[in-house]
Amino acid sequence: MAFLSIEFLGTAGAIRTPRPGCPCPLCTTARRVGIPWERTGPSLFVHGPNVLIDTPEESALQVDRAGIRQIAAGLYSHWHPDHTAGRRMWETRNWDWRGWPPQHLCTPIYLPPNVARDFEVMLGLAENFRYLEEKGLVKVHIMDRPLELNGWRITAHPLAADYVYAFLFQEMDGHRRVLIAMDELVGWTPPPIFRGVDLAVLPTGVFEFDPFTGERRIPIQHPVLRHEATFRQTLQMVERLEPARVVFTHIEEPDGNSPEALVRLADTLHRERGWEVTFAYDMLQIVL
Ligand SMILES: [Zn+2]
Ligand SMILES: [Zn+2]
Repeated sequence: MAFLSIEFLGTAGAIRTPRPGCPCPLCTTARRVGIPWERTGPSLFVHGPNVLIDTPEESALQVDRAGIRQIAAGLYSHWHPDHTAGRRMWETRNWDWRGWPPQHLCTPIYLPPNVARDFEVMLGLAENFRYLEEKGLVKVHIMDRPLELNGWRITAHPLAADYVYAFLFQEMDGHRRVLIAMDELVGWTPPPIFRGVDLAVLPTGVFEFDPFTGERRIPIQHPVLRHEATFRQTLQMVERLEPARVVFTHIEEPDGNSPEALVRLADTLHRERGWEVTFAYDMLQIVL
């Protein structure tokens, strides 16, 4: 059996916890306690195939904190700043700045086709990666075919919003499958090919309603409800996916859910629906 475990390097969404300068109870406690209250930007590492997915602004800190030595490849789910702003991780990690002759590391980076398209026009991303390529620190590839690493076949699948991709990891000498979607499930209906995966990692979605009282938290006219999947919509996706286990991540500070509330919510979902549910926190490791 091929080995696979997922280490959640960062479990915030676009808004980290604590948010700079925020006096709310969630951020105040996060500053005092750290993990599991504190959440850095969205990224995870898949041990086994040894791939890093996305580089939020704290990426260098996250990779070092996790003690990750070998990175076989870097993957990007989409261009959004919360998933790419820490791309200098490749520079600070791979550059042998003082050695002579220099012995740089050079990591292959795989961009699904529409991600490569967007990198050309958004945030100077393609320009920045060409700079890293010129230094010999990364090699950028278009991910237009499956990637095979340490017994796992990895494929990229566009979601309803076609600028963002989910990654499917399939065991090459077995039947186990892991689906990882980093963000942007809005409007998505999971296709049958993903049904019954052994593990699904999904963004939590925004909490339009209080998950315990049902009270509305986000005004119905708020534009975020047009651009982001809600938690309730995400639960409908889980109903279609029927995964053996689901881990929710990309947890936004403005939703204000404490780690205790999320544990309680996971228990409720388990009791009411029979699901194996975990809300991720930074440095959580899930072994398949
Ligand atoms: Zn995001
Ligand atoms: Zn706050």
